[in-house]
Amino acid sequence: MALIVQKFGGSSVADAEGIKRVARRVVETQAAGNRVVVVVSAMGDSTDELLDLAEQVSSSSNPREMDMLLSAGERISMALLAMAIHESGSSAQSFTGSQAGMITDAIHGKARIIAVSPHRIKASIDKGDIAIVAGFQGMSQDSNDITTLGRGGSDTTAVALAAALKADVCEIYTDVDGVYTADPRVVPAARKISTISSEEMLEMAASGAKILHLRCVEYARRFGVPLHVRSSFSQLEGTWVLPNPDDTIKIQEGEPLEQPIISGVAHDRSEAKVTVVGVPDIPGKAAEIFGIVAGAHSNIDMIVQNVSTHGSGRTDISFTLPIVEGADARAALKTAQAAVGYESVEYDEQIGKLSLIGAGMRSNPGVSYKFFKALSDAGVNIDMISTSEIRISVVTSADLLDTAVRAVHAAFDLDGEAVATVYAGTGR
Ligand code: ASP
Ligand code: MG
Repeated sequence: MALIVQKFGGSSVADAEGIKRVARRVVETQAAGNRVVVVVSAMGDSTDELLDLAEQVSSSSNPREMDMLLSAGERISMALLAMAIHESGSSAQSFTGSQAGMITDAIHGKARIIAVSPHRIKASIDKGDIAIVAGFQGMSQDSNDITTLGRGGSDTTAVALAAALKADVCEIYTDVDGVYTADPRVVPAARKISTISSEEMLEMAASGAKILHLRCVEYARRFGVPLHVRSSFSQLEGTWVLPNPDDTIKIQEGEPLEQPIISGVAHDRSEAKVTVVGVPDIPGKAAEIFGIVAGAHSNIDMIVQNVSTHGSGRTDISFTLPIVEGADARAALKTAQAAVGYESVEYDEQIGKLSLIGAGMRSNPGVSYKFFKALSDAGVNIDMISTSEIRISVVTSADLLDTAVRAVHAAFDLDGEAVATVYAGTGR
């Protein structure tokens, strides 16, 4: 008897119809001879609606109360799903994150999982019930307060439970049929990927592919949990994310024996670019600048330092960071302007990041040439460049990002025959 953890995202449980559809799917999975644990997200965009409400009653949000509020979204879905399952004659029990044994640290809004002790979940499935768990939440070990794991955190709940219960697979149900070679909302000709290594999936998630939460992919890789990303709106086989490099040789029927060079193109609109202009070109200045930015709790992504203009003894340092962290980082830099001795700070939110990802880059020369040629043919100007062993990323202006994604996708022959189906959701 297999143990399957199934996670359903907000768009899959957006309304009563959706909840009933998910209930049927869960019951079918159990009827096929499996033990089933279900993790649910909040209905539709209800987490955003709760955030809007909080803003209306208070200008400064209290982190503890914010987590109390946001964790309620998932509790609504879990109870409604249990009721819908009862309606079909099967037995199910719902559990909050803390009842399910999700123990976290005390950092409200982005708590990290410290331990998972799912005794009650085990007992529930051992007696033949379907166990339903509220995603995205846990309980702090120190304060016993309710915490949340950060936006999109239900994926991570599902994988953490799958690892703790030693599940055979963690199925992530979403509103598209799997992981695509690009976001089908931007590239309608994107193709579904049937298997992808967790290494490549990590790069895709880190580069802005919203299909899977980055932390969920890291967790799955660390604990060897196979992930199956698929749609709750169809019965099609989705994308398998394989945790061990050796697993990639599990070739499915009809698939080419060699891995493709490129697995996909990801894009990201959530970052801004900061340029510190006229930094004295002497040892220690970069450390000072990034020390200041780190002190403002910013997560830096790309960094570029120019050669100093001839004879000036000064240089420019540019970096990108999440837009939501831009204001704090700028304020911190401003405060330290005299101490660091730079001339000014420029800030631009109208940027986009495009990344090309593929493990085959390591052993195939010419990938960068083809990539930059495609961008140049499409008339896209490049602002910043960064690379890893299996990724090339560029920053462009925001209004050219979609064009750039489509051009690169086509240049690497990733376009498929059919138009990808997007069943629901706004992609936010
Ligand atoms: N409901 C939360 C969010 O919208 C968690 C999740 O969906 O995974 O971010
Ligand atoms: Mg959500």
